[in-house]
Order: sequence, then C-alpha cells, then structure tokens
Amino acid sequence: MRVYVDFDDVLCETARTLSRLANELFGRNVPYEQITRFNLQRAFHLDEEQIETLMRHAHESSFLLALPPAPGAEEGLRRLAAAGHTVCIVTGRPVSTEAASREWLARRGFTSFEILTVDKYGRARGERTPDGRRALSPQEFAAIPFDAAIDDSPDALDLLAPRARCRIFVFDRPWNAAYTLAPNMTRASGWEGLTALLHAR
Ligand SMILES: [Mg+2]
Repeated sequence: MRVYVDFDDVLCETARTLSRLANELFGRNVPYEQITRFNLQRAFHLDEEQIETLMRHAHESSFLLALPPAPGAEEGLRRLAAAGHTVCIVTGRPVSTEAASREWLARRGFTSFEILTVDKYGRARGERTPDGRRALSPQEFAAIPFDAAIDDSPDALDLLAPRARCRIFVFDRPWNAAYTLAPNMTRASGWEGLTALLHAR
C-alpha cells in the first residue's frame, strides 16, 4: 500500500509545543485540550502580528527539530515500512522547512521516505526554495494516488474526502473532535491501533 502520513500532530506533538511557545511569547495559557479549533490565531487569541511571530518561530529549524514524536509514532512508521508499505510524508509546512523535516526523520533512522509538500491550507503563495521547488497545489496533489492516509487537520481531511478508494484515518486531536467523517474515514485514537486498522478489511 502507498500510505500518506501527515507530519505535524500525527508524527510529532506540534500543537502542544506551540501552546507552550504562545505562553512564553505572549502569556497565552491555552492548554492543548482546549485547542478545539485548527486556526491557532483564534485558538490562542492572537492578533495578526502575534500569529506571524508565532509561525515564524514555528518554522525555524531549531523549533522543528526539537518537536517530540507523538506516542508510538516511530514504532508505527517502522511497522508500516516493515510490512512493505510505501510511506510518503505529506506535509502542509512551508517548502522552506523541508530540510528540517528530513533531518527530524533522519535522526530517528528514517532516511528513505518521500516528503511531499502540499499547499493544504492555501498559505503557500507561490513560495519557492532557492533551487526552485514549491508546494504542490491541491489539484496537483489530487492526481497522486494513495491507498491510505493519516491526517488530523479538518482542511487536509476535506482535501482527502473525495478519494473514494483511499482509506482515511482521522488522527484524534481536540480540533477535529467535531469533524464530520466522510464515508471513507475512520477515527484512530493514536498510533497504537493504527497498524491494526490499516490491515483490517
Ligand atoms: Mg497535521
């Protein structure tokens, strides 16, 4: 199977770490459990300048490399690879962060996974790396086949919903608790049960 695996809040604990950063930078005390919407500007009650500052910090290599793995994520990736699946990391991070994403994976022994940067949230605005690479548009992404996908963000799940032949796993997070699942979607409470779900018919 060709398996799409999201990065932030599927492989690593991004929102928990951003919650601590928002507290340090702006004194916002919004615990992870209370992040019930994906829009962090609203979740943390930040103005335009503050959210820009937060996201600038969030996309620095030092921040990205320090993100702790989600419980069971490393073992889960190893099990997928061992079962012969092709793992493709599909992220909505800016294309400029690809090297840090690759390094985070390499530090855990994952050196062969393809990383696809997709403009999941309409934020890419044509950004290119010095060597000319850019995020794939949602239309370009739609042409790439997957048999299964794991993501947490409602916007990304909406992009996946039309893929009738792809099984989508909604990785439980407070901001997707109210998300209405499409017929091709199943909830996964964490990595522990994911591999069993993937192999279930
Ligand atoms: Mg995510």
